[in-house]
Amino acid sequence: MDDGQFFYHPLENIEDTEDFYAAINREHLTKSLSDERPYTYWTIELYDQKNGIRGGGGLGILAADTRRVAEQMGVPLTLITPFYPFEPHQKLENGAVVDEHIPVDYHKFGFRFVDTVNVRCDGNLCKLDVIEKKFDKTRILAITEPNFGELYSGMSGGDHRLYQEVSLGFGGYAALKLLGLKPAIMQLNEVATFFAALARLDELASNGMDFYEAVVYTRKHTLYTNHTLVQAAEAEFHLSQFERFVFPNLKSPAVRKWLVDKFVNDRIKLSSVTIEIAELRSGVSKLHARVANYRDIAGNKVKFKAVTNGIDMETWVVPEILNYYRRIGIIDKFGLPTEDYIEKLSSISAEIIHEAKHKGREILNSVLKGRPDQNGKELSFTDDDFVFDFKRRFVDYKRPELPFSDPKRLRKILESCNGHYILAGRVHTGDHNMSGKLKKLLDTVAHDDYLKDHVHYIADYDEKLAYGLSAGSNVAINVPIVGLEACGTSWMKDIANLNILISTHDGGVADASMDSYLCVSGGSEPEEVDSLYDRMEEAVEAYKNDFDLEYLIQKQLAAYLPVISGSRMLKDYLAFLFKA
Ligand SMILES: *Cc1c(COP(=O)(O)O)cnc(C)c1O
Repeated sequence: MDDGQFFYHPLENIEDTEDFYAAINREHLTKSLSDERPYTYWTIELYDQKNGIRGGGGLGILAADTRRVAEQMGVPLTLITPFYPFEPHQKLENGAVVDEHIPVDYHKFGFRFVDTVNVRCDGNLCKLDVIEKKFDKTRILAITEPNFGELYSGMSGGDHRLYQEVSLGFGGYAALKLLGLKPAIMQLNEVATFFAALARLDELASNGMDFYEAVVYTRKHTLYTNHTLVQAAEAEFHLSQFERFVFPNLKSPAVRKWLVDKFVNDRIKLSSVTIEIAELRSGVSKLHARVANYRDIAGNKVKFKAVTNGIDMETWVVPEILNYYRRIGIIDKFGLPTEDYIEKLSSISAEIIHEAKHKGREILNSVLKGRPDQNGKELSFTDDDFVFDFKRRFVDYKRPELPFSDPKRLRKILESCNGHYILAGRVHTGDHNMSGKLKKLLDTVAHDDYLKDHVHYIADYDEKLAYGLSAGSNVAINVPIVGLEACGTSWMKDIANLNILISTHDGGVADASMDSYLCVSGGSEPEEVDSLYDRMEEAVEAYKNDFDLEYLIQKQLAAYLPVISGSRMLKDYLAFLFKA
């Protein structure tokens, strides 16, 4: 497998963009999409540290991966997002998570200042900088100003959020025009981007198009991608907030009236209007699209097309592993699984898996440099260590504390395999419940003379840590409360990097059957805890037996390679948006 030096970029293998379009059998796409009429992708969150933008979690990672895959496939795509002048970091002090705010300068990341655009908010004319970073086929178009604030700063439903969302929508739309770009399609990555579609509707309606025609046109060209499950949980805005931040930006009285009519008791949920303005709607996994409970204003249940998230394998898969996939012919030049990939998986031997983990462990060790655990100790692992990880935002439904329900059993498992358990994940600012849970968990660990040296919390979870852990650990643990994860993508990074996945059957994991991986099941939490420990023991055993290890890893890839492929995701979106 030692072919790291032959690592190549798939674009070099694509004769022509037409190839990709032909592969997805939508030749007419080339007529719909062009550099001047790009696919536009709107997102309040982008997680793309290499380009200077750090997000909060999966929503932003997905946005970055979508653009990168489009770039590789030669699909003209413009991603519009805010550039937040401060980024949030976290450190651990005496077991407590402390937030830090670090200023960032867009010039350092190759952004070019284009010009300024204005939005009206709260009686002021706010001047926003438009900045651009252009790649070959795609670009990141960002709007920013020194007081723009941080991602998700202030309350959802609060004035500052509304200001940020209005700035992205109206400011971003004006920025597109500044560059002479016309959106072929507008994909709204969650409802915070609603105002982009509103800006388009307003432009059409105020430029002489009949209002109803303008609505029909906007609807046909707008895709609302929902990542949330429960509409009821969404924050609302008050009419008076729209009077200050939204209506002053509208030129068309008809659009204003249309919008005012959508308020119920002077309140509005952005999802309700986003559903009205987007005829195309998608959910982010099969399960999520089925169970997302949304109603339109008339009270009818909204149908979501399932387009399961994928990941950019170029970004997330260890280069040697990805090359190996290409060499044995399980993924093609587009990053799509080949027709006979399942048969070809049989050549993934235990030796290959151990080699991959050896390489991955080097990556993990280098990522862990300068990032000590809760004891201030810098970690480094050898091939003889057995590493479990739990890496994801510390939010209640993801249950980071679950594997600590029975510390004695956890200790026994770790003792049996020279094991380490690495925890990484941000606690949402102001989430006292979760910072309390983390503190309690670390207390439990500190009071056990074995666990204290074998359970490690690494602060300031980010892309590098996500990559290092999926590359270098043996087993990944993912235990959301079933029904609450929309998709999740970190488990995809794990499977693609030949880790064993232990998971509840939820989100995108539920795209395939429960016997495709080590499934945590049970009708109650104590049963799930039991099942989780059983699965951890099975994973340890599997590593002692080549046949079992090969069987598990091959089975995971057989079930999930098509799901994981970011090219598959883009292909699904294109097929959905540009139906022949
Ligand atoms: C992949 C990734 C995520 C996605 O996490 P999920 O919990 O699987 O949705 C979040 N944050 C970072 C930094 C990631 O790399």
